[in-house]
Amino acid sequence: MNIHKEVRQSTSDNSLFENITQMWLEILAGLSHDMRTPLSSIKGYATTLLREDVSWDVETQREFLKIIIEETDFLESLISKLLESTTLSWKGEIELNKKPISLPQMIKRILNDAIYQNKQHTFHVLIPEPFPLVNADALLIERVLRNLIENAVKYSMANTLLVIKGEITFDEVIISIADQGIGIDEEHLNMLFEKFFRVNNGTDEQNKGLGLGLPMARQIIISHGGRIWAKSKPNEGAIFYFSLPY
Ligand code: ADP
Repeated sequence: MNIHKEVRQSTSDNSLFENITQMWLEILAGLSHDMRTPLSSIKGYATTLLREDVSWDVETQREFLKIIIEETDFLESLISKLLESTTLSWKGEIELNKKPISLPQMIKRILNDAIYQNKQHTFHVLIPEPFPLVNADALLIERVLRNLIENAVKYSMANTLLVIKGEITFDEVIISIADQGIGIDEEHLNMLFEKFFRVNNGTDEQNKGLGLGLPMARQIIISHGGRIWAKSKPNEGAIFYFSLPY
């Protein structure tokens, strides 16, 4: 659906304008949310390289620069996504650019990001080999994974364990991300995927967020024909699951 055409055709309909404004606000908020992780990673590596008290060997310098370039690529792809989002229907349907992707490889790449290492969490990845390829939009699925991993880090203490598991059933793969963090009340569990919902859990200032990551994740997974859900108890951590057909 062409948004601009729709707007011209319905200039008398104020609620349409409200819907479109709301949609753009949500897209912009979602993008800012996604840009935070790669930006802090780029800043972290650049700052480290510029430290005057350490002389890095050439190999380490190249390694850091490689990560900076990878993160810049990710940011570039997000910006393309913003341009592409003009083709998004204002009803929230997503256009998928599907190709076979390896979830274990994608997870490995995400975990290499310094931001997770800096937080001193221990990651265990338990994914059976060989793991089926899924036909999916790589950029969008990476957005879901980054969001779930970022949340697991954000809502648990340093030095705790995060476990990422992969399961294979006869027609779908299931990825789960388990943390040992603050957890979520049962009454809030099914509201997590609603837009702008945030549990008033008294966490510190660093844990600011928009409550858009999980709704976006749900929209992406559902548009791939998958499912997304969570299990948790307060102070006993949380497990987020998503499935994708293969
Ligand atoms: P954000 O983290 O930006 O607020 P999300 O949509 O990603 O937005 O998450 C919504 C809410 O769900 C968070 O504010 C938090 O209260 C809760 N939440 C998400 N993941 C976890 C987790 N792993 N452990 C505890 N609470 C979580």
